[in-house]
Amino acid sequence: MHRRSFLMAATSLAGAAMLPDLAAAEPAPPAAASAANPLLAPWRGPNGGVPPFDRVRIADIGPALDAALAESETQVDAIAANPAAPSFENTVAQLERSGHAEDRVGTIYGVWTSTLSNPEVQALETAEEPKLAQHYTRLLQNDALFHRLDTVYQARDAAGLTPEQKRLSWLYWNNRVRAGARLAADSKARIATINQELARNFTTFNQNLLADEAGYVLYLTTQDDLRGLPPDVLAGAASAAADRGHPGQHAVLNTRSSVDPFLTYSDRRDLRERVWRSFYARGDSNDVHDNKQVIRQILRLRAERAQILGYPTHAHWRLEVAMARTPEAAMGLMMRVWPSAIARVHEEVAEMQAIADREHAGLTIEPWDYRYYAEKVRLDRYALDLNEVKQYLQLEKVREGMFWAAGQLYGFTFAEVHDLPTARPDIRVFQVRQAENGPHVGYWYFDPYARVGKRSGAWMNQYRPQSTFDGPVTTIVSNNANFVPGAPNEPVLLAWDDAITMFHEFGHGLHALNSQVRYPSLAGTAVVRDYVEFPSQMNERWLPSPEVLSRFALHYRTGAPMPQELRDKITRARTFRQGFDVTELLASALVDMKIHLAGGADIDPAAFERAALAELRMPRELPMRHRLPQFGHIFASDNYSAGYYSYIWAEVLSTDAVEAFREAPGGLYDPGVAQRLRREIMRVGNSVEPAIAYRNFRGRDPDVAAYLRDKGFPTT
Ligand SMILES: [Zn+2]
Repeated sequence: MHRRSFLMAATSLAGAAMLPDLAAAEPAPPAAASAANPLLAPWRGPNGGVPPFDRVRIADIGPALDAALAESETQVDAIAANPAAPSFENTVAQLERSGHAEDRVGTIYGVWTSTLSNPEVQALETAEEPKLAQHYTRLLQNDALFHRLDTVYQARDAAGLTPEQKRLSWLYWNNRVRAGARLAADSKARIATINQELARNFTTFNQNLLADEAGYVLYLTTQDDLRGLPPDVLAGAASAAADRGHPGQHAVLNTRSSVDPFLTYSDRRDLRERVWRSFYARGDSNDVHDNKQVIRQILRLRAERAQILGYPTHAHWRLEVAMARTPEAAMGLMMRVWPSAIARVHEEVAEMQAIADREHAGLTIEPWDYRYYAEKVRLDRYALDLNEVKQYLQLEKVREGMFWAAGQLYGFTFAEVHDLPTARPDIRVFQVRQAENGPHVGYWYFDPYARVGKRSGAWMNQYRPQSTFDGPVTTIVSNNANFVPGAPNEPVLLAWDDAITMFHEFGHGLHALNSQVRYPSLAGTAVVRDYVEFPSQMNERWLPSPEVLSRFALHYRTGAPMPQELRDKITRARTFRQGFDVTELLASALVDMKIHLAGGADIDPAAFERAALAELRMPRELPMRHRLPQFGHIFASDNYSAGYYSYIWAEVLSTDAVEAFREAPGGLYDPGVAQRLRREIMRVGNSVEPAIAYRNFRGRDPDVAAYLRDKGFPTT
């Protein structure tokens, strides 16, 4: 069985409660169950089969998942009970062979809960999440299996295992040690209970958040309400209103993709304040969807679990296997950046205040003014009009540009296929090959549009990992976004940041597509949290390259390429508003780490957040990117808990790595550096320890100076 990949953008709002980030074991499907439930059957179709999205009935998902979990457990029990002496082959490799039905049904379950949710799916989730938590706990706490894994791991050198086999043996062994495999029975039982209680709380957290996002809609009913909003924002707001039974009006939804443009452009300060307040009150309204008690429970359970496992705090437990290794290392990096970031915020605010004063606005910059006045600064100082940029960023062309850059770097070609099932008609599938008519590399599914029941934000999901140990298995990945569909026959135009996000998520896809490892648990994005964002952030760097912009940033009416002058403005404005961007992210990352370092104290999240921000001297003019009651990254699952710093950590890697290209004669398309990137980073997945893989690529350890330079912050 393999680890599931479900990678969220830093910008995402909430995490659907996904399968946990722990190794799970797979079972082989009993024939009777397959016959009864189509979701249990092996996937059919070309290149090893594809998900049967056309045959999914929600009512089948729960029974299929239950049967698949039972099957996994039967398989694992059989591996554990093998009378033969433990060996890599009869234990670790067998585990890699198990759980295929669980992987297949888990894929369907993940797609429905994250992109096609409705009350029926939510009920399914509520029923299944505790079972999944129990399942993972069982697999991780299986004593007989642990003894075998322990034997294989201890004998790894004598047995002549390859480096990849040794690393895989360590991963299986270490996952179990970290989950409590060496504890006494009563402690294990308590951990199992905690995991289930956590799973229940994660689901509640997420559903509260979704309810608060869906439950507050601001309808704009007069001409005056629309003042300042550019045409594409109006079009999106009109279609959102029509979808909700308010044709002819405009709706501002309580989601980031709807709120951010409104706060950027609306001339109506009173409405900006209303929208801002309801967005940052999600999960914090002291009503039935309030998340503060849920957070309190989660923190208490995590602290207790860490303590049973022998760690001072949840943060110490989580960080032990990260590239950072310790909370101190992560905090150290963040606190190195923090003073520069808030100093820059103060400069940005002063500049915005000067504009407001010049316009006799008679106001002091408040959080609901930041994006709006920053936009005025952008126009004033850089004469950069993002609406003008947007005219050159057609969704389809940006996608082609992304494909082209991947072709230059990795030799991939992409061709749309029309005969594979998708969950919705507007989801598209592309076949990836190594060179024109070359060998099949994988499939890339693209689900770009917002809809009711789809999680907000953007993310990558992996439907199947690459492997070769039992014959070649190719990967299947998807990228997901929440773009608002345009008017009929009009291209969808992307904001610059959205185009960057597309390159980012595609970077995760490329990490999976480049994978060339033997065992699926080590493939592509199955790496630690603070390293996984490195390839994706790195891929963002190819959008602004002249090679991509000149070919693919074409005006949606005239087809003319983006003028050099506009490209120069984008380059000059590169460090614009970085104070805001870095500070809002870092504030969330710091509070995440601090709250998970607080140990077993009973924590009042509201008071903790206030005190932590005060201690950090958080500028009053902007909020944390994710306030605690809405911080799905850390409270909708364990995945990013004590781990939101990962985005900054990985950005240090990616900015430093990009300089390797810049130093080379061929710049961003230098074939030698591209080859090294592919060989040392993209292909190896988790088969090599991240710090070593990085050193193999760069010839040294990462240096934070590149990151500070990139942000335009002082490096001393
Ligand atoms: Zn990412």
